[in-house]
Amino acid sequence: MTDLPGRRLLLVHAHPDDESINNGATMARYAAEGAQVTLVTCTLGEEGEVIPPALAHLAPDREDRLGDHRVGELAAAMKELGVTDHRFLGGPGRFRDSGMMGVEQNHRAGAFWNTPVDDAAALLVEVIRSVRPQVLVTYDPDGGYGHPDHIQAHRVATRAAELAADPAFRPELGPAHEIAKIYWNRVPRTVAEAAFARLRAADAGFPGIAAIDDVPGVVDDALITTEIDGTDYAERKTAAMRAHATQIAVEGPYFALSNDLGQPVFTTEYYELVRGASGAPAGTREDDLFAGVES
Ligand SMILES: [Zn+2]
Repeated sequence: MTDLPGRRLLLVHAHPDDESINNGATMARYAAEGAQVTLVTCTLGEEGEVIPPALAHLAPDREDRLGDHRVGELAAAMKELGVTDHRFLGGPGRFRDSGMMGVEQNHRAGAFWNTPVDDAAALLVEVIRSVRPQVLVTYDPDGGYGHPDHIQAHRVATRAAELAADPAFRPELGPAHEIAKIYWNRVPRTVAEAAFARLRAADAGFPGIAAIDDVPGVVDDALITTEIDGTDYAERKTAAMRAHATQIAVEGPYFALSNDLGQPVFTTEYYELVRGASGAPAGTREDDLFAGVES
């Protein structure tokens, strides 16, 4: 395994755009520092709403070609972040976007939500055993905000981390590998409150402003273990978000999804360490996902 870079980061996301919104600065920073950054996206985001009117014909209730278009948006976003290793779980189109919770698309054959966790996890085990990441980033058990594909991404990533470490599980998928640290995407509540206060004062031109609880992963500050300062990568992050043009409208340090409600772009990104030991002194936050990890 001596041909692998010393630091290896794996991120598991539900749809193209989630990675740039949640982790764009983190990904750009580690890629720039020479770490191996691997993104696994579980669906093509076929059920997304389309913001630009000129592309509305791609929507699932019209031509249903949004998935292929979003493959291109993701590739453009990864170029902005300097990330070269991005993959779709099981290959592009293997799992379909399940739509929001409670819609009939949840139950469609091939929908990610409708896939047995262990079946999807085995595909990720193969990636984990070949990339051999020390760090995994994914969502909390609620997927940050209850979207079925985000919940499923959490379940699949968590199960795959467990199975990848078990030498008895599918040895033909590669030698067992234990991931040292697992993180969930988070936003500290006080940071979200301050950013929304700035947004309300800024009159940035959005028809409305999102509620704090619309932001995935907002929790009490006490749960935050790790803070990645992405200030130097803020432009790369917003450029990556702009690349997801069917899904995101960026206005300066703010953005809106298809609901037109303004939200802040967070360039410092926050995490909760849920497996492995913190590399920071007790009572302080880590400033590096690899803190304490041997390369
Ligand atoms: Zn998503």
